[in-house]
Amino acid sequence: MSEFCDVALPVPLDIVFTYGIPEEMQPVIGGRVLVPFRQQRMSGVVTDLHERKPKVQTKNLIRVLDPAPVLDEQLIRLGRWIADYYLAPIGEVFRTMLPLGAEFKRAIGYRITEEGQLALHLAGMSGSSARSQKTPEDQLAEFRVLDYLAERDMTREESVRTATRVSKTILNGMVRKKWIIREDLSEARDAARTVKVAVLKSVEGQLNANQQTLIDTLAAAGGKVPVEALQSLEVPRSTLATLVKRGAVGMLDEPAEFTMSKLKARPHLFDFQFNSAQQAALKNIQEHVDAGKFAGMLLHGITGSGKTAIYLAAMRAVLEAGRSAILLVPEIGLTPAVAADLHQLFGEEVAILHSGLSDKERAEQWHRIKRGDARMVVGTRSAVFAPVSDLALVIVDEEQDPSYKQEEMPRYHARDVAVMRAKMANAVVVLGSATPSLESYFNAKKNKYALLELPDRVEKRPLPEVEIIDMRQEFQETGSEQVISRKLAEEIKERLERKEQVMVLLNRRGYSPVVLCRACGKTLECKNCAIAMTHHKRSHRMECHYCGYTAPVPKACIHCGSEYVYFLGTGSEKLEELLHGMFPQARIGRLDRDTVRGREDFERALNALDEGELDLLVGTQMIAKGHDIHGVTLVGVVGADMALGFPDFRAAERTFQLLTQVAGRAGRGQTPGKVVLQTYFPDHYAVQYAAQHDFAGFYDKELRFRSWMHYPPYSALANVLVRSNKLDEALRWSGILGKWFEKTRHEGIRVLGPAVAPILRLKQDYRYHFVVKSASRSKLNGLLRSMLAYAAEQKIPRTQMIVDVDAIWLM
Ligand code: ADP
Ligand code: ZN
Ligand code: ZN
Repeated sequence: MSEFCDVALPVPLDIVFTYGIPEEMQPVIGGRVLVPFRQQRMSGVVTDLHERKPKVQTKNLIRVLDPAPVLDEQLIRLGRWIADYYLAPIGEVFRTMLPLGAEFKRAIGYRITEEGQLALHLAGMSGSSARSQKTPEDQLAEFRVLDYLAERDMTREESVRTATRVSKTILNGMVRKKWIIREDLSEARDAARTVKVAVLKSVEGQLNANQQTLIDTLAAAGGKVPVEALQSLEVPRSTLATLVKRGAVGMLDEPAEFTMSKLKARPHLFDFQFNSAQQAALKNIQEHVDAGKFAGMLLHGITGSGKTAIYLAAMRAVLEAGRSAILLVPEIGLTPAVAADLHQLFGEEVAILHSGLSDKERAEQWHRIKRGDARMVVGTRSAVFAPVSDLALVIVDEEQDPSYKQEEMPRYHARDVAVMRAKMANAVVVLGSATPSLESYFNAKKNKYALLELPDRVEKRPLPEVEIIDMRQEFQETGSEQVISRKLAEEIKERLERKEQVMVLLNRRGYSPVVLCRACGKTLECKNCAIAMTHHKRSHRMECHYCGYTAPVPKACIHCGSEYVYFLGTGSEKLEELLHGMFPQARIGRLDRDTVRGREDFERALNALDEGELDLLVGTQMIAKGHDIHGVTLVGVVGADMALGFPDFRAAERTFQLLTQVAGRAGRGQTPGKVVLQTYFPDHYAVQYAAQHDFAGFYDKELRFRSWMHYPPYSALANVLVRSNKLDEALRWSGILGKWFEKTRHEGIRVLGPAVAPILRLKQDYRYHFVVKSASRSKLNGLLRSMLAYAAEQKIPRTQMIVDVDAIWLM
C-alpha cells in the first residue's frame, strides 16, 4: 500500500501535488481523485503512487472517484508529451483530455462562526451599530443571513441565497469579517442521463376508458414504456398518476439510450465503383494498417476527388477486423446529415463528438467509447483523445484547418497530436486535404509521410476555369469603386437565366467594416480592442468581431461631434443587399456567422441550395468548406485576398487555400464550372497559382520563401505574448523579457521583439510579443522553459503570458 500519491490538478502551475492516502482508500494511476486545494475542492488525475514523504505537510485525499483508470498508460504518455511540447501544465492537459466535467458538481457552503453568533446577538439588542458606513439594507441583509444560519449546520449557497435574497458581495463581505465560513462542498455525481419509464404491475378493479387505453398500450409494448412516449396518447396526464396511486403502474428511472440524429441517411451512400486512384490509395492505407506499425500518410486529393469515400472504406475495414479508428473533422462539417450517414455505415458502433453535445451527452459518449461499445469515433478537435483501445487508424480530414489548433491552454494542434498518438499506438495516421499545410506537404516531400495523390475529380469531371478580374483596372475603367465587377455581374445574369446556381464569397461579415469621420479622420473603435467596429445593418448596431462588444450606430462622430460620419467598405450583409438590387428576381441566401448559429442552420442553408430553393448563396469562408452541391456552376470571389495585406507569414498560404477551396465548389455536377476571381493583387503568386490549380507550383514557391525567412516548416516557431490591462505593466514586463533574451543570447535561436502585437489591444489587454524561431525544436523548447522560470522569478504572472508553440496566428 502506498502512502502518498501525486495528483495533476487543473491549475496554471507546472507541477503535480502530493497527497496522503487514508487507509481505506485505493487510488489508481490514471484515475481521478477529489482533493482539497487552497480553499477549494478539485478533481485531478493520479500520476504516481509512492512512499516518498514530502518535506512539507501534506493533506489527505477526500475521495477516490475512479476505482479503475480513466486514462490508460498510452493516454497518460500522450498527455505528458503535450505538456512538454506545448509547455502546458499537465493537470490542464488531462482536464482537456477527459470530457467528464458533468461528473463533478461545484458547490459552496456556509456556516456561522462564533463571531457571527455574537454579531447576531448584538444586532438583536441594539438594532444597528452606530459607526457602520453601510446602508441599512445591507445590514438587514446580513442580519437575515446570520439569522438563517444560526440554527443550521453547513448549508449550500443556493439555499442561503434563495432564503435570504442576498448578493454574493454581501456573503463575501461577511466571510471577510469572519462572521461566516465558506467551504467547498464540490462532489462527484452520477452524470448518467435517465428517463422515466412506466411499468405495468397488477391491475385490480374497474378501469375507465382512459385508464384502459393506458394499460392496453403498456401491455402491448411488453409492460414497459417511457413516460414521454405515453404523452402522445390522447389521455389526460392525471390518468397515469391515478394508476400509479392505485398501484397498477410503477415508475422507474432507466438510463437514457443515446439517440442519434433522427434524420434519414441518404439512400445510396456508396453506389459507385472506386476509381483506380481511390483503389490504390485505399489499398496502400490498408496494407499499412495490416502491418501493425506506425505509418504517416498524406492523402492529397483535389476538390471532388472522392477522399471521404476512402476514409469511410478504410474505417469499415478496421471495424471488420475488430479494431478501432478515429476520424477528425473540422467543426462545421459535422452536420446532422453526415451523422446519419455515419450511423447507417457503422450502426451502433459509431460515437459522434461535436460541440453541440451537452456535458452529460459528452460524458456518455466517452463512456460508450471507453467500454468498447463504440469503436468508430468521429469528432472535432478533442476527439483525438477518445479512449479507444486497439487503435488502428487515425484520419484527419482537411488537416490544414485552423480549427484543429486550440486557442487556449493547452494550445495543442490536434493534427500533430494525432500523429503522436498513432506513433505511440503503432497505428496509421492519414492526413487528408485538397490543400495540405506547408508543414505536412514538406514532411511528405521529405518522406516522413507517404504521399497518396488523387489528381483527378471523380468521373473525370474537369476543374473549373478561373478568370481573374483586376479590380484596380475595373476602377479605372468605370471611374468608381465596384463591389461586383461588370464581368461577374454578366456571368451571374447568364447563370440565373439558365437556371443554374451561383455562390459568391466575401470573407467578411457585417454590413460595413469601417465607420469614418470625414471631419476629424477618426474611426469608431471598440472600447476593449484596438479594432474598428463593424456596422450590422439588420440588427441596428456596431459590433466588434474580436470581443463581441456592441454599441449603438453613431449619428455623429463620437470624437468631434461632426455629422459627417461615413460607413465604408462592404461585408457579406451589404453584398446580399447589393445582389438583391441587381437581381430582384433571384432567390438569395446568406451563410455567415450572423445567419448560422449552429450546424443545423448550416445544413439548412446548404439543403435549400441543393434542393433548388435558392439561386444564389452569398457568404464568408463558410461557403467554401467541404460540401458537394451539384447545381453550382459559378463561383464569384468578391473578396478573399484581404489577408494578403496582413503582417502574417501564413497569409499567402491561407489565401491560396481559401481560393482553392471555394473554387472547388464549382462544377461538381454534370455541367462544368467557372470561377470569377476579383482581386486587387492579380499578380500575387497565391492568386496566380490558385487560378491555375497549380498546387505543386505554389508549394515550391512558398517553401523557398519560408526557407529564406527561417519560417516553419524550416524552423520551429513560438509566439510569446505578454499582456496586461495596464499599458505600462505590459511594456515593463516585455522590457524585462526583452533584456533577458538579449543577455542570454542563444546560439541557433532567433528572437524577434519585443514588438507591439499586430492588435495592440484586445479584450482590454495591451499586448506585446516576441517571435522565437529555431531549427532545433529542443533548443526552442529549452529556451522557452528558462524564460518562463525567469518570468516567474520576476513576478510576471503566468496567466499574463501566452506561450504559443507552433502558433498559427501571430495577431
Ligand atoms: P472530396 O472530399 O475529395 O472533395 P468527396 O469525397 O466529397 O470529395 O466526393 C465528392 C462526391 O463524389 C461525393 O458525392 C461522393 O459520393 C462522390 N464519389 C466519390 N467517389 C466516387 C466515384 N468513384 N465515382 C462516382 N462518385 C464518387
Ligand atoms: Zn470626428
Ligand atoms: Zn473588441
